[in-house]
Amino acid sequence: MYIYSDVYHIEKIMRISVIGTGYVGTVSAACFAELGHEVVCVDIDQSKIDQINAGVPPIYEEGLSELLKKHAGKRLRATSDYELAVNNSEVSFICVGTPSDSEGNIDLSIVRAASSSLGDSLKKKKDYHVIVVKSTVVPETTEKVVLPIIEKRSGKHQGDFGIAMNPEFLREGKAVYDFMHPDKIVVGSLDKRSGDMVASLYSGIKCEVTRTNPRTAEMIKYVNNAFLATKISFANEVGNICKLLGINTYEVMSAVGKDFRIGPHFLNAGAGFGGSCFPKDVKALIGKASEIGYEPMLLKSVIEVNERQPVRMVELLKNRLGELKGKKIAVMGLAFKNDTDDIRESRSIPVIKELLDNGAIVSAYDPMANENMKKLFDNIQYHTKAADALRGVEACLIMTEWDEFKSLDKEFNVMKNKLIIDGRHMLTLRKNVEYIGLC
Ligand code: NAD
Repeated sequence: MYIYSDVYHIEKIMRISVIGTGYVGTVSAACFAELGHEVVCVDIDQSKIDQINAGVPPIYEEGLSELLKKHAGKRLRATSDYELAVNNSEVSFICVGTPSDSEGNIDLSIVRAASSSLGDSLKKKKDYHVIVVKSTVVPETTEKVVLPIIEKRSGKHQGDFGIAMNPEFLREGKAVYDFMHPDKIVVGSLDKRSGDMVASLYSGIKCEVTRTNPRTAEMIKYVNNAFLATKISFANEVGNICKLLGINTYEVMSAVGKDFRIGPHFLNAGAGFGGSCFPKDVKALIGKASEIGYEPMLLKSVIEVNERQPVRMVELLKNRLGELKGKKIAVMGLAFKNDTDDIRESRSIPVIKELLDNGAIVSAYDPMANENMKKLFDNIQYHTKAADALRGVEACLIMTEWDEFKSLDKEFNVMKNKLIIDGRHMLTLRKNVEYIGLC
């Protein structure tokens, strides 16, 4: 028996709490509400709670604003009160951050804190409740870290409550679309009852649900990201070799990608991968492998190649311009990718650092991420228009694949020296402009 909620058919309207209202939490909460469920968000940051309750997204994501406006105050609300959230839901999703520690290993302190608060709230609850880990965590975390904390703090045992792992594969910039149109949904659980409950939440979405145990679900997420990161570093290594040989790597990869076993995606050589996931997830998998006595040589090289790419851009610049001291250079694009204001691990960060270390004056522009980058670098010039950032510069480095950069044309006329190094292989060649591709 299916229930109609606007346009989606769901098996049952469920009450869900979402712990952590960052990219994954806010998008998941808004999309679960859109599917017809009743959602309460929990965060420790009061400003995010206020924004969500006012129907304003705490982050930029295409389509998110519309969903929050539609559901805030109705099917969706936010609070800092864990107990209230747990008492008013049947399933809780842990969506807090899992950053890298100083060694690159996964830092689970936020997951531990959220698990403790959930355990405390569960203590007083009589009804069955399922805790789901959606944060990206290394294999065994759900069973060996989250479950024992919840059991200890709640005084209950697994079975009295359910535990599951449900990794998230959304892409920032397309997060709402990806949540509603996933190519896979993975639910890892220790028992059938909790797995069934989590799987049923997605009944309004047309996608097969892959059922596994929690550690397999955790591994699937890492392997997914590590494979994509490997493809990028592979393409960059090939690109670097091609450049030395005078071969167009994009022609090579376009032909290679026609092999159905390889596919055409993620083969574009350039400045490398950034963002809140690929670098930290590959490093976390390296850390986990090392911890259990395996040396992941390939994964280590994936990170090494990626860290060299942005520095190569500044090397190319120095080969062409000589000393950079006192020279004004434009950095076009600060977000780690287009359509987001997220700068975490953006490739523009090592580039700006390298430019500043070489004494250059940095003139930066991004349509969305200027404010976020100001928190990291307060010693560079920020502009709200591309042409203003390009005025009087000796060269321009393209760091983010923003659509608007593709149509830049007469804006380049205001450069003092018309040299472009394109880290994203996105501009078409123009008269009177010297264009250097990174690879
Ligand atoms: P984020 O840093 O944007 O958001 C985390 C939120 O948790 C913040 O709002 C923070 O205030 C809140 N928080 C911190 N401590 C808390 C606590 N004790 N209780 C309640 N809330 C607390 O993180 P994110 O980018 O949404 O990522 C969350 C997880 O999802 C990570 O494990 C990440 O690897 C994974 N993931 C992220 C993406 C992505 O594209 N961002 C995609 C897939 C998976």
